[in-house]
Order: sequence, then C-alpha cells, then structure tokens
Amino acid sequence: MSTPISLRNLTKRFGSTTAVNGIDLDVAGGDLFFLLGPSGCGKTTLLRMIAGFTQPTDGSMVFGDRSVTNLPPNKRNCGMVFQGYALWPHMTVEQNVMFGLDVRKQPADEKRKRVAEALDIVQMSQYASRKPNELSGGQQQRVALARALVIEPTVLLLDEPLSNLDAKLRLEMRSQIRDICKKVGTTGVYVTHDQKEALSMADCVAVLKDGDVMQVGPPREIYDRPNNRFVADFLGETNFITGSIHSRNGDHVIVDTQLGRMLSATFPTNLNDNGAVTCSIRPEAIQLVHKGDSESTNNCFSAKRISQIYLGEVAQHQLGVGENVELKAFELNPKPLADFDGSVHIMFDPEDVVILRD
Ligand code: ATP
Repeated sequence: MSTPISLRNLTKRFGSTTAVNGIDLDVAGGDLFFLLGPSGCGKTTLLRMIAGFTQPTDGSMVFGDRSVTNLPPNKRNCGMVFQGYALWPHMTVEQNVMFGLDVRKQPADEKRKRVAEALDIVQMSQYASRKPNELSGGQQQRVALARALVIEPTVLLLDEPLSNLDAKLRLEMRSQIRDICKKVGTTGVYVTHDQKEALSMADCVAVLKDGDVMQVGPPREIYDRPNNRFVADFLGETNFITGSIHSRNGDHVIVDTQLGRMLSATFPTNLNDNGAVTCSIRPEAIQLVHKGDSESTNNCFSAKRISQIYLGEVAQHQLGVGENVELKAFELNPKPLADFDGSVHIMFDPEDVVILRD
C-alpha cells in the first residue's frame, strides 16, 4: 500500500531566518513528488522535517492516517538517499544493503531474501561482493537506493541524489530511479534545484522560493501554465511582455502589450480586467515565418534578427520587435531564410501566451 503524505502549516525558523514558512502540501500515495527551488529556498529543511531529523517550529505531518510530527526518525520508516551515497567503505555491497535490516533485527533468511530482492530491483546483484570503491558513481548510487528500499520504507526521501554524477550518467540515472520507484510503488519525496530533473522524473512538483510554495502541479502544468514570473523563469527560458487586458472575446483574452495587441487563451482567475499584466511566451513557442505563410493575423508581428546562435538541432535567435522589445526565439531544425536581410515575421499560438498572476 502506498502511503500519502500531508503537511499542514509546516514551519521552521532558525533564529530570525524562516527556512520553511507555514507550508501546506499533499503528496499522493505512490507519487514521486519533487521539491524544486534555488539554493536556500528551504527544500532540504523541509525534507529533514519529513525524515524527523529537524523538529518543526510549528505545523503537522501525517503519513497515511498516522501523525508523525512528534515521532523520532527511527519510528517513521523513511528510506533516505543522499547526494554523497553514504555507503560504508569497509563493507561489501551486500553488507551495506543488509545494514538497515541488521539494525531492525530481522531473521537471517529473511534478511538474505530481501537484500537479494533489493539488489535485483536496482540491477546490482552481480556486484554483491564488491566494496563501494570498486563501483562507479552510478552503481554506488544504485546501492544506496537498494539500501533505502530494503527496509520497505513508508516514504522514500531523496536529497539531490544525482548531484555527484557526471552529466551523462545523471541523464541515465533519471529514468532508472523513476522506474525503480514506480516498480516498488513507494511514495517518494525528491529534492533538487535542477528543473530538467524535476520535469523529466516527477509526478508532481512543488516550486519553492524563500520558504514558500510558489506553485504545485504536474511537470507539464507548471511549465506550460506558470502562475508567476518566478516559476516561469525558474523552469526554463521565457520572454516577459508587459501589457494590460483590453477585453475578453469568447475563448480568448485580448491583451494590449509592448508588441501590440495579442490574444491569449489562458484565464488566470484572480485577474482584474483592464489591469496591468505580464505575459510569458516561451522561446520555442515563437515561430519564424515568411510573411504570407500564415493565414492568421493574430499574434503575428514583424521583427528584426539581432543575432543568432546555431547549435545544430536548434538555432537561438535574438529578435528586435517594435521600438525597444527584444525576444528570444528557438527554432528547431533551423533552415536558412531565403533573401535574408534580417527581417522576419514571428507568430505564436494564443495557447502559448500565458498571462501571469503576478
Ligand atoms: P541548498 O540547495 O543550497 O541545499 P535549500 O533549498 O536546501 O538550499 P535549506 O538548506 O533548507 O535550503 O536552507 C534554507 C534556509 O535556512 C537558508 O537560508 C539557510 O541558510 C537556513 N538554514 C538551514 N539550516 C540552518 C541551520 N541549521 N541554522 C541556521 N540556518 C539554517
């Protein structure tokens, strides 16, 4: 059975620093839930409170129907995976994985069976008798994962587990860790500052800033429909365009912006019509077109190419629009523009014009 987690008004203050500021979060049972944010936003403190290593200043935590707020770490049944693996160097892989069961005083047969199962899940059975220094970084991290899983944790907590690996291995381990968590079915809480890691692995992401939750949602939702500037900017590159709402027309909001009038298909709920707004348009949503290629005149503007970085599969264009607006546009599978004098036309879908709440 996968256990849901519920955090209410969870708060941690260190003297005058509020590391976690009255957070409410619900993690569905079996989900891989990400805490994502820049350095110092409070994600490690939040994870340590869930583990029981840090006592909250205020608030409550419930695993399933069990309050764990006042339980010590060893009564919470959390498996932990750290950035630095924390394997015992003098023990073999098998002994490292068995350690958690030794502490729990399990019968010898049961221990051997569970260690074999855990090593099988992370595909490390053939390395059972090696020492950690005879393994690659990725293999060591898989042993650390097996050691956390062997206790059949109620909750698996992962603190930047891929940070020590090189870039290529990090990419491979993303899908491996997700697959393993899904196979076991445990509820996972995963801390990272790497937005690509969160987008590619998470069922749900909480974006944190200065101890507050900025937005919670599945990866596609927080990327495509950020609530505010911070989330839009932290999750990837974007263009911010300021303007004011002119009116609503059927499925669309008409916004007067620095570029001119444009249509948005997003409807933030707490907006004041006619109020000042900021729109976010991702660079990959901006298409470069030849004039006349598009039948629509909506969200279509003339632009001048200021510079271009060609990267093979993609070209990154810096464009000037109107008097003083600069936009980034990413062109996938870039083509040279015929008779090019620097003039281009750009267009974008109303779905890709996201009106931010703040
Ligand atoms: P990083 O990605 O750099 O690890 P983080 O998002 O995990 O950052 P935390 O380590 O949770 O952030 O820290 C949040 C805030 O609380 C920071 O301002 C930090 O300086 C402060 N803080 C964390 N631990 C302590 C402590 N033991 N004593 C005092 N302040 C602390």
